[in-house]
Amino acid sequence: METDGEKIAISANVGDERTQNGVIYVKWFSPPERMSQAIKKLGLFWLIAVVSVVIPVFHFVSIPLFFGLGVFFALRSYKSEGKVLSGLVLCPHCLTEVKIKPTEIQWPLSEICQNCARVVRMEKSVV
Ligand SMILES: [Zn+2]
Repeated sequence: METDGEKIAISANVGDERTQNGVIYVKWFSPPERMSQAIKKLGLFWLIAVVSVVIPVFHFVSIPLFFGLGVFFALRSYKSEGKVLSGLVLCPHCLTEVKIKPTEIQWPLSEICQNCARVVRMEKSVV
């Protein structure tokens, strides 16, 4: 588990009153980093859009689709405060360890419990 970055306390729930406390490790983005992440995403999707020109028929759908997705993901990256490097919380329902996969921070975070298949939602703890 990657434990660089800032440790943040989180509170997990499965949609009822039961909660579990956990931790995540977060790397915050600086504004230039956010901008470069956004540009990278835009570039990647637009590259796929351009490459998909060679696919017959499908390109009528794929070009506008990937252009649109590029803008969507770029904006999402730009608005993101940072990313989750790793994290761990117990599932409030079955108390199985739920590992939080690296992801961009979009509150609330959610992860599927591998044991009971419930969606575990995580918010910043207010302690
Ligand atoms: Zn569970």
